[in-house]
Amino acid sequence: MSDINENKSKKSTKNPVIDVRGVSKHFATVSPVRDACFQIQQGEFVTLLGPSGSGKSTLLGLIAGFEQPSEGTISLEGQELTDLSEDELALLRRRLVGFVFQAFHLIPTLSALENVAFPLYPVKMSGQERRERAGNLLDKIGLGNRADHLPSRLSGGEHQRVAIARALVNEPDIIFCDEPTGNLDSATGKEILNLLTDLNREQGVTIFMVTHDQEIAKLSDRSLFMHDGEVTTS
Ligand code: ADP
Ligand code: MG
Repeated sequence: MSDINENKSKKSTKNPVIDVRGVSKHFATVSPVRDACFQIQQGEFVTLLGPSGSGKSTLLGLIAGFEQPSEGTISLEGQELTDLSEDELALLRRRLVGFVFQAFHLIPTLSALENVAFPLYPVKMSGQERRERAGNLLDKIGLGNRADHLPSRLSGGEHQRVAIARALVNEPDIIFCDEPTGNLDSATGKEILNLLTDLNREQGVTIFMVTHDQEIAKLSDRSLFMHDGEVTTS
């Protein structure tokens, strides 16, 4: 009972975990994001839908702090990104955020285990601790027996699961996903989705996911839509 109440109070907290205010991005000839305004509360699973080219990936890159907005402000857990230096931004991302992209970006010369452990290298911990943490995660996602494999020896679904384990190894509060099941067959896509929704439900991890899959949108708490650079709730 108290757990449920605690969850509720977390979801209704006044300080959103993601706060996007008046955000635009202009390139020379296009403005893929125009005056985006929305908030996401801790523990929400929100999907961002919209046709190809509508600006979804650009918006995600702005919120994740990979790119600077031309106008407006973005805050993660109350910290305004534009106030931060490059180093501070990197630290915030490492502490707070995990990313799962459509392209897996595993490092081809490192084993599955080393790929998962990779984000922990700047963190002060022993090599043994790092390997243990990465190994536990691989076990959890059913890839314990693939720990020593190079990415070239993994299937598409296994790749993506390793990428997800890597996104989780810092125990992030927020996970950003850009069409995380886009390159996968439907069974593997479902597995990946289950993994993410479990994290959301069981650990209260906030998920912001770009997708064009209506079925995934139905699983989320709510959806935002993008049309020609504009974000709407319907
Ligand atoms: P989506 O993810 O919804 O398919 P994108 O955010 O990738 O859409 O792209 C939206 C628009 O912004 C496209 O017209 C794309 O060409 C343009 N765009 C994205 N990044 C850049 C960039 N760095 N320079 C110029 N145009 C860009
Ligand atoms: Mg995209």
